Amino acid sequence: MSVLIYIDNTDGKFKKAGFEAVSYGVALAAQAGSEAVAVSLGNVAEAELLKLGNYGVSKVLSSTDERFASMDNQAAAKALAFAAAKVGAEIVVLAHNNLGKAIAPRLAVKLQAGLVSNATGLPLNLSPFTVNKNVFTGKAIGHAVVHTAVKVLTLSYNSYGVVEKPVSVNIEAFDAGLGDADFGLKVEQTQKVTGKILLSEAEIVVAGGRGMKGPENWGGIEELAEILGAGTACSRPVSDEGWRSHGEHVGQTGKIIAPNLYFALGISGAIQHLGGVSGSKVIVAVNKDPDAPIFEAADYGIVGDVMKVLPQFIEAAKELKA
Ligand SMILES: Cc1cc2nc3c(=O)[nH]c(=O)nc-3n(C[C@H](O)[C@H](O)[C@H](O)COP(=O)(O)OP(=O)(O)OC[C@H]3O[C@@H](n4cnc5c(N)ncnc54)[C@H](O)[C@@H]3O)c2cc1C
Repeated sequence: MSVLIYIDNTDGKFKKAGFEAVSYGVALAAQAGSEAVAVSLGNVAEAELLKLGNYGVSKVLSSTDERFASMDNQAAAKALAFAAAKVGAEIVVLAHNNLGKAIAPRLAVKLQAGLVSNATGLPLNLSPFTVNKNVFTGKAIGHAVVHTAVKVLTLSYNSYGVVEKPVSVNIEAFDAGLGDADFGLKVEQTQKVTGKILLSEAEIVVAGGRGMKGPENWGGIEELAEILGAGTACSRPVSDEGWRSHGEHVGQTGKIIAPNLYFALGISGAIQHLGGVSGSKVIVAVNKDPDAPIFEAADYGIVGDVMKVLPQFIEAAKELKA
């Protein structure tokens, strides 16, 4: 019996959410007294696969089939179901990212498994299997009890953390035996944003809301982000009004991010916004309204005019850098 951990890649590179899923899967296997096995789909070089050993997993199944680069969820679900059967997986762990959220339900159907999406920690109980999960866009915690023999979990960002625990890795080639007909999705063109820090990967994010008043005031946000090596984000109305691109919109209907540090500048903190940023480790909010809901979610709050506070942040960041 084992815990199978799916680690997805972008252009052959693993990301922080995947390393967190591996760290979690390794701890879960230790708790269940079983073996942790990671599985990678797509063309990932050996040097990248070996990195998984830093997070405690000693066995990696790797299918270097280039066709997985299309991120076809149905094909990935089939391959993972095959891998789960091969290693006798009782639990399959995926990151709660776009890919994990799309694959996990399909995989659960194939394995006749109970599904817990957005799990926030190790099981409270193994029998019956009980685990906490984020509900109502992170406003509450639910207890999920799963009675099926096989369980599929997606792990909420930043809920467990990346834990280094170096071990040596045994990489095993793996072929799920999929034919071309299994890959229904064809990617014809990919356009990439260059020169910007990817929001999903950023350790620090500086975000602005309608309290920034207009696009002409974004220079300060960009300057602070540049000094801190941060990504820039915004609330939905800001992108709806065309002040910033939709690629920067975070929240329930935008990107879900989990940086170590999130600056919410002139953002009210509506539940739909918090749904995308509540995985941040530390939230710093600036708002002129002391009753703004963002202060309930914030670790540090400044009640004040963002137009006056932001230049002070920039000066402090410059001093820190110097
Ligand atoms: C189905 C649905 C999905 C949604 N999805 C999302 C989503 O994914 N992401 C998202 O962000 N929203 C989403 N929303 C919208 C959400 O409900 C809020 O309307 C939105 O987040 C508010 O954006 P805001 O905080 O920038 O603006 P506002 O609510 O207008 O808040 C502006 C804030 O700035 C403060 N402020 C004003 N001037 C200053 C100043 N000079 N200095 C300091 N503070 C100042 C104000 O006190 C206020 O708190 C969704 C809504 C629905 C119905």
